[in-house]
Amino acid sequence: MGHEDGVPRRTLLGTVALAFATAVAPGLGRRARAEAQAKVSKAVAKYQDHPNGEQRCAICINFEPPNRCRFVAGDISSKGWCQLFAARENAQ
Ligand code: SF4
Repeated sequence: MGHEDGVPRRTLLGTVALAFATAVAPGLGRRARAEAQAKVSKAVAKYQDHPNGEQRCAICINFEPPNRCRFVAGDISSKGWCQLFAARENAQ
């Protein structure tokens, strides 16, 4: 009982997934690629571990406490900042 049509289908899906990852995340290393499908690197976002004036991660709508960001890969600081900063409506 062979289901030989399963192999080409998996191969095609793998090829499509790889092409998608390559198109979405050019210039990123293999290690970061899985996470980077939804996020950009700190370097791309120009992340810094200190505030930019009044602007900081703690008052950004993309901040995910205690130390993550919706768009930037890896751990970040609540006192950090990047070019994707967007203040919360009630930011102080
Ligand atoms: S300032 Fe940048 S790194 Fe910080 S939470 Fe906002 S988008 Fe993320």
